[in-house]
Amino acid sequence: MTGTAGTATTNWARNITYAAEEFHRPRSLDALRTLVARGTRVRVLGSGHSFNEIADPGADGVLLSIADLPPVIDVDTTDRTVRVSGGVRYAELARAVHAHGLALPNMASLPHISVAGSVATGTHGSGVGNGPLAAAVREVELVTADGSTVSIARGDARFDGAVTSLGALGVVTALTLDLEPSYEVEQYVFTELPLDGLDFEAVAGAAYSVSLFTDWREPRFGQVWVKRRTDQAPVDFPWAAPATEAMHPVPGMPAGNCTEQFGVPGPWHERLPHFRAEFTPSSGDELQSEYLLPRSAAVEALYAIDGIRSTVAGVLQTCEVRTIAADPQWLSPAHGRDSVALHFTWVEDTAAVLPVVRRVEEALDAFDARPHWGKVFTVPSAVLRGRYARLADFRALAQTLDPTGKFTNAFVRGVLGD
Ligand SMILES: Cc1cc2nc3c(=O)[nH]c(=O)nc-3n(C[C@H](O)[C@H](O)[C@H](O)COP(=O)(O)OP(=O)(O)OC[C@H]3O[C@@H](n4cnc5c(N)ncnc54)[C@H](O)[C@@H]3O)c2cc1C
Repeated sequence: MTGTAGTATTNWARNITYAAEEFHRPRSLDALRTLVARGTRVRVLGSGHSFNEIADPGADGVLLSIADLPPVIDVDTTDRTVRVSGGVRYAELARAVHAHGLALPNMASLPHISVAGSVATGTHGSGVGNGPLAAAVREVELVTADGSTVSIARGDARFDGAVTSLGALGVVTALTLDLEPSYEVEQYVFTELPLDGLDFEAVAGAAYSVSLFTDWREPRFGQVWVKRRTDQAPVDFPWAAPATEAMHPVPGMPAGNCTEQFGVPGPWHERLPHFRAEFTPSSGDELQSEYLLPRSAAVEALYAIDGIRSTVAGVLQTCEVRTIAADPQWLSPAHGRDSVALHFTWVEDTAAVLPVVRRVEEALDAFDARPHWGKVFTVPSAVLRGRYARLADFRALAQTLDPTGKFTNAFVRGVLGD
């Protein structure tokens, strides 16, 4: 017995049913190595928060979860690093790091997601100076196709392909992340910011992390979430009025699920995510899509979506606009360019949402938009490949570490091409 085996049925959003007939949760590294070495097609499931088939090995493949491996969170207060198992979720990691007086540079909107799964897809928070979560990674440890371990650290020529890897290089068993001294954050929400006259650079740069939300029923942002580090300048936000009650980014959802607002200072990990670890993030009944494009085109891209506003609004719960600093990872959607991300939380209705996703992609096509790897998109693979200048380098790295393509699936083959 190598660990709990059974069937992993669906992802978090329940829009994907994994086709894999074999699902294993090994409890030791040796058991994991054995499963990997004997499998012909293997994919790892993180916390299952992706909205597409990226994790699914297909009917003849083996799906592995490493959530039952002994969890490791080793904080080194001298080097200011943490070595963490890939299956650990950010909520748990953040609490442990904070207990040592240290911090991560940024977090996504929710802390429920696994570290390895998040960095594999280029998951990000917001902030003009903040790269994606992968930017904090300094080393990855992989169990590769033959069951052996390979470590790839910053400075290694392969490193920029090794973190945002779509799970195509092997099983990420551990990562070492850079930390910094702990800091506090105050969160403010402002309301009713018009699109007309939007000074995007000023608004997005108004604090450490800024998110704009709109339901696209009007050309305005109903909410702007501003997260200020207390060791940085006070917030000066003359463009919109402060909220008078606590808010949830999805209209109608309970604000109690969200992190503290009204400028109450608190630890970084209790303010940078929008959603509290102990509650369902977002709305729970939803699909998501997101596109990253050059930040310099933000206003033009927002007007492109405004042009199809009523179509978008018909199936939308909320749209969030964030910024991400340029990232060196070859497959990062923020690769090589300071980016703006246009995110859409759709209703939970694939048939109704997909035609609108296509309309959004047409509207953003001129901006070379790169879809989030973990969300719903329909951009053809051939078009996607043209948007990643270092794709050939990644393909070569994957072939070296995984010559038989054990860690590929239909999704990855589509991205990499033949
Ligand atoms: C409510 C909600 C809010 C979200 N908010 C944000 C947000 O703020 N910002 C953002 O950018 N994204 C966001 N996302 C998307 C989410 O961050 C990504 O889908 C991310 O990949 C989820 O991590 P996971 O562990 O669930 O990965 P999974 O979906 O389980 O897997 C994703 C990929 O990682 C691979 N993988 C996972 N673990 C390993 C491993 N140990 N070794 C090798 N490969 C592995 C899988 O094979 C797969 O290819 C959100 C999703 C939801 C549901």
